[in-house]
Amino acid sequence: MAEDGGMAGDSPQASLFATPEPTADLVGLRQQCEACRRCGLAAARQQVVISRGDPKARLMVIGEGPGAQEDATGLPFVGRAGQLLDQMLASVGLDSNADAYICNVVKCRPPDNRKPTAQEMQACAPWLATQIAAVNPAVVLLAGATALEGVLGIRGGISRLRGQWHPWEGRWMMPVFHPSYLLRNPSRQQGSPKWLTWQDLQEVHRRLEAIATGAEALPG
Ligand code: SF4
Repeated sequence: MAEDGGMAGDSPQASLFATPEPTADLVGLRQQCEACRRCGLAAARQQVVISRGDPKARLMVIGEGPGAQEDATGLPFVGRAGQLLDQMLASVGLDSNADAYICNVVKCRPPDNRKPTAQEMQACAPWLATQIAAVNPAVVLLAGATALEGVLGIRGGISRLRGQWHPWEGRWMMPVFHPSYLLRNPSRQQGSPKWLTWQDLQEVHRRLEAIATGAEALPG
């Protein structure tokens, strides 16, 4: 669930998939989140976990919530699942720190890595909304069923809806399997969850390139 992973990249390189202007709202967001007590998850957190990657990226990845390593480091997706996410993005030519902005639906670790409740997701929604507005991604990957529920309000449809594009407020969203699920299902055979996710990420890269070159427009 909340194992997220990847490498802590504080100095992203210039990316093909980047917007020209840096964002200002994210500086205030960190201070607001660090002071936030909007839900009970604040009580046991070590750190709020806001993001890693490039705020100017055209790709945003939204996961569920911080796990133990994320809570300890203050960075999302830094465990085994995050490393797998990094590897899978790299396999389609995307650098997770230079080409993506990575965050979660909730910014504080749920106890025992449980799924955040609907109330906790709702409480944290303003911070996620600020991130989406500030980064203004063209494409959003919703990693796992909780992200699908937390952002689009769709419950339990990850196997059915993964790989499908959803136009949402002028951008494209695609649900995919969470990397932690892929760690538990490591087969790469055709039709396996990992194979399907690789197809999904290739499609994501294709669409990012099409948008970057002007071959495709964002949804109205
Ligand atoms: S999870 Fe979100 S809403 Fe809850 S305390 Fe943390 S930052 Fe605030």
